[in-house]
Amino acid sequence: MVRVRIEYNRTDCIGAWACVSLGPNDFAMNYDESKADLIEGQNPKPGLQVKELEVDEERLQQIKFAAQSCPPQVIKITNIETGEVLVNWEKPHK
Ligand code: SF4
Repeated sequence: MVRVRIEYNRTDCIGAWACVSLGPNDFAMNYDESKADLIEGQNPKPGLQVKELEVDEERLQQIKFAAQSCPPQVIKITNIETGEVLVNWEKPHK
C-alpha cells in the first residue's frame, strides 16, 4: 500500500472525460459545468481539488493512467511517503 496525493487543477479542465473513464473511483462527471470532479476531494482554494488516500498497486495504476490520460495535464499525483512526483501536471493550479 502507498499513500498518494491527487491534486487537480479543475480551473483548466476542458471536460474531455478521459480521467472519468479510466479512473472512475476518483473522478466523476459534472454535467452542469462540463468538468470532472475529484470524488471526495477537498477544496483548499477555488479551482483546486485535492485528496490523499492509501492505495494498492492496482488502484495506483488506475490513478496514474487517469492522470496521464488528461489532455491538458491538470492532474498531479505524488507519493506522499517519498515525495516522488508520479505524474506531473503541465498546468499547475495558480
Ligand atoms: S481528463 Fe483532464 S480535461 Fe478531461 S475531464 Fe479529466 S481533468 Fe478534465
